[in-house]
Amino acid sequence: MENDYKIETKCIQAGWQPKCGESRVLPIYQSTTFKYDDSDQMGKLFDLEAEGYFYTRLQNPTNDAVAAKITALEGGVAGMLTSSGQAANYYALFNICEAGDHIVCSNSVYGGTYNLFGTTMKKQGVECTFVDPDAPYEELCQAIRPNTKAVFAETIANPSIVVLDIEKFARLAHEHGVPLIVDNTFATPINCRPFEWGADIVTHSTTKYMDGHAMAVGGAIIDSGNFDWLAHADKFPGLTTPDESYHGITYAKKFGKAAYITKATAQLMRDLGSIPSPMNAFLLNVGLETLHLRVARHCENAQKVAEFLTGHEKVAWVNYAGLPDNRYHALAEKYMPNGTCGVMAFGIRGDRAQAIRFMDALKLAAIVTHVADARTCILHPASHTHRQMTEEQLHAAGISPDLMRLSVGIENVEDIIGDLDQALSVI
Ligand SMILES: *Cc1c(COP(=O)(O)O)cnc(C)c1O
Repeated sequence: MENDYKIETKCIQAGWQPKCGESRVLPIYQSTTFKYDDSDQMGKLFDLEAEGYFYTRLQNPTNDAVAAKITALEGGVAGMLTSSGQAANYYALFNICEAGDHIVCSNSVYGGTYNLFGTTMKKQGVECTFVDPDAPYEELCQAIRPNTKAVFAETIANPSIVVLDIEKFARLAHEHGVPLIVDNTFATPINCRPFEWGADIVTHSTTKYMDGHAMAVGGAIIDSGNFDWLAHADKFPGLTTPDESYHGITYAKKFGKAAYITKATAQLMRDLGSIPSPMNAFLLNVGLETLHLRVARHCENAQKVAEFLTGHEKVAWVNYAGLPDNRYHALAEKYMPNGTCGVMAFGIRGDRAQAIRFMDALKLAAIVTHVADARTCILHPASHTHRQMTEEQLHAAGISPDLMRLSVGIENVEDIIGDLDQALSVI
């Protein structure tokens, strides 16, 4: 695969490279295991002395081809797929953290990530400090501790649509000798490649735009290969000292730039086993082939929808970084000049009951707990994900009772706007 191909070409061509007479399309290796001629060959694989497949929990050719495609799209050196975005973020951190360690995370992140870092990993002894991503650099530095092992944030936060100042966060991480891990789910590598701005590791919930058709839950971790683990050897003993569970291999010495992903595969996937099925990886690959077309259309449609909503008398506010007066417009112009994503938040003039009446009047936009697929969909946190809360509690959680999360699809934008318009006329 030519490394200097443009990203559109990589969406189609990267990953599966058939040899003479092999399947043109990525085959689904729906097999748990792989056959060898003698036991010595198999032994070398177990010793990580030879490359090859032996058991799908560790590696599978279909999954690896798709991981290689996403790695090419992000401009990284090594990558792996996981069974979900949650597993990707967990592995990305747990690969370099253990009980007694600490991480710093933007407070504007996906709710699942907030729970994972704030509650579940805390039970495992890893503490997390959540920071305001818009805080000045000096204030962010105060969150760093001697046992901090990583800084984490989302390029475009789900659902608050906060755009990350990636360079500020990269500086925060690097001046304290730790990697910056960025969840690039909403921007996708089509609109933003965080490695170009200093991020060291990128994660994805491929469930969203990458799959794009709401068919398969999945995740990915991609390493830029840029973080020098040996230069901070005392902080990352898992990578820089022998792994007794793998015949005393020292990952950073034996695998160089592939050390981080090799460890995550050989150790975490071996022991925790959150693999995607090859069938799901195949579906993800089909989605990736049109990622560049879909993301552009999502953004084009969302821009028009945001402009329509902004001008509507029954709409109180619209949060979309593509709008010139948006708080994050300048950051979006810098880090993602071709567009942000298809997701926005807005509020209507009126109370919770009016919002529900509006939602129920929608015909095209479906009410689903999902975002970022081809179909336009909408969620009203006050009556869905956060419905147990009173209005006061909602405000305290930073969610106004009228907030609606709209994920603009790739239908004809006139139909999407027409649907919103007729539903707004009901209230
Ligand atoms: C959805 C999402 C996740 C979780 O991914 P799953 O595939 O649902 O496990 C993580 N991060 C972001 C930004 C997401 O939108």
